[in-house]
Amino acid sequence: MTIMDDFRSDTVTRPDAAMRAAMASAEVGDAVYEDCPTTRRLEAMAAERLGKEVGLFFPSGTQANLAGLMVHCARGDEYLVGHKAHTFLYEGGGAAVLGSIQPQPLPNEPDGTIALALIEGAIKPDDFHHARTRLLTLENTFSGLVLDPAYLAAATELAHRHGLSTHLDGARLMNASVATGCEADGIAQGFDTVSLCLSKGLGAPVGSVLAGSRDLIRTARRLRKMLGGGMRQTGILAAAGIHALEHNVGRLAEDHARAARLADVLAAFPELGSGSAQTNMVFMTPVATDVEAFRRFLADRGIAVGGRYGSLRWVTHLDVDDASVNRVRDACEEYFSGDAPH
Ligand SMILES: *Cc1c(COP(=O)(O)O)cnc(C)c1O
Repeated sequence: MTIMDDFRSDTVTRPDAAMRAAMASAEVGDAVYEDCPTTRRLEAMAAERLGKEVGLFFPSGTQANLAGLMVHCARGDEYLVGHKAHTFLYEGGGAAVLGSIQPQPLPNEPDGTIALALIEGAIKPDDFHHARTRLLTLENTFSGLVLDPAYLAAATELAHRHGLSTHLDGARLMNASVATGCEADGIAQGFDTVSLCLSKGLGAPVGSVLAGSRDLIRTARRLRKMLGGGMRQTGILAAAGIHALEHNVGRLAEDHARAARLADVLAAFPELGSGSAQTNMVFMTPVATDVEAFRRFLADRGIAVGGRYGSLRWVTHLDVDDASVNRVRDACEEYFSGDAPH
């Protein structure tokens, strides 16, 4: 059965006809020579939205984050990071492996923050026994959760007061912006560098932007080359990113509304456990249901759902609609009607 309704992630979106047309007609040049007009336009546009001097196009969010960490941390330095953060848990240990940067994980609270007292307590004194604490990284949205702007201001102020730099993994920063009505530059304000994914809910096939000051991004450009991310006629990809920023930011509100509706639909099946919508995601950890059997049942009906370790993650995006949510409802009704094995 081919997948018809793919709720695994917002990375699964495929470029639509208008985006493909923008890609096909993009003016290009060699971006390593800084000669690609479309790439430069995307970088300027993203930097402006994020309130930073300069932007730099990257092939992936993972590489943008790694360069972001390496801009601030040298070999033997450490970064403070949430224990469930993408840069710590889902990027292959790249900071340690490729950057020789030691992570100092700190517990994420249920709301995605790290307690300020824990951050302050984890900053090592200047003592040769310790790695040098150089950086605080936060993530927004975090598993779909929007971090409180007052918290972001307090955490980045604390970091800077102690001489640390700050990096924001803003893969889904635009979801946070649309959900709160705060402009992206306001959310990014306290951060020295910020990464933004174009290939999540924004719908581009490839790409992230790292933004920061002119000096930091000059260093990031060197790191990007070293990491193998210096690509040539990237205008074809950047055109998709421009199209995404111009057309697909405001519409994230539709994804958020659809996730809320999906959460309502799923709430009718207590066997699935409770889960509320956070921006474009719904998480649930069923206790009375065999999650893998349920997943297979859905797969047979063309519905794919994400999550691991016994949990379910539903993500809404450009390529699922209300009919997709209805098909989830119908499948759940069938599964939990009593006949099917749970
Ligand atoms: C997707 C994602 C990234 C980057 O992932 P890539 O797949 O490398 O583009 C970084 N942080 C978060 C929170 C993400 O969701």
